[in-house]
Amino acid sequence: MDLSLALLFFCFLVLAASTWRQWTDPEKRNRESWWIDGAGLLIQGLGVPLLRVGVSAVILRSLWPAAAGQVEIPGATAFLLSFTLIDYLYYWNHRGLHNAGLWPLHRVHHTTESLDLWASSRNSVWTPLLLVYLWSQTAIVFLLKDPSWFLWGVAASNALDLWRHSSVRTPAFVRKTLGAFLILPEDHEWHHSRDRHGVNFGANLNLWDRWHGSFHRPPGRAEALGVITKGSLSDRLWRPWRLR
Ligand SMILES: [Zn+2]
Ligand SMILES: [Zn+2]
Repeated sequence: MDLSLALLFFCFLVLAASTWRQWTDPEKRNRESWWIDGAGLLIQGLGVPLLRVGVSAVILRSLWPAAAGQVEIPGATAFLLSFTLIDYLYYWNHRGLHNAGLWPLHRVHHTTESLDLWASSRNSVWTPLLLVYLWSQTAIVFLLKDPSWFLWGVAASNALDLWRHSSVRTPAFVRKTLGAFLILPEDHEWHHSRDRHGVNFGANLNLWDRWHGSFHRPPGRAEALGVITKGSLSDRLWRPWRLR
């Protein structure tokens, strides 16, 4: 197994073990949330990687075979490209998903009423196609001669995604240090808040929210989370625009 993937899996295990009380509480997680998040995990863990391979091996290789593995950049640049530049693109991508036209496809992610690391994969089947990650990461891995540092950036972004949704409380010293530039789990809770909309769109870095006026970090925690929707499990997964 690739080392960056192994580290991501380790982060998953640590977060799952340290928050097991949260995600095993039947008051917070019912049968339907297991089904929808299980399906989301399957899409993210199997469907999206297969799609990446298909896009790279079939589409890019046939359209532009000479470009495969031709770009050589320093490891640090490749890491920052993944961790910072794509993160900035995602900030606008995510803001776009909150616009009325795209919101029905993103709303499923916001239906969780309590965050835990399983909820990080909650999405409709179609939503990963709208995320900048799929297309940009696939194209860049195709172009790079050595994508290993770029993939470390991808693994770090995925680990932060799990952390952000995990419901772990951020210790004061982490809040003061890493919290100066990273989106913390408490920040992302506010993004899922029922009372406050349009804040904390960032994934890795909070700088984009700070720069563009959408950063929100009050002293207290968000209380009520999640949008209330009505609709079947298959509507949530396959026809999210039908949810009411
Ligand atoms: Zn959102
Ligand atoms: Zn979220």
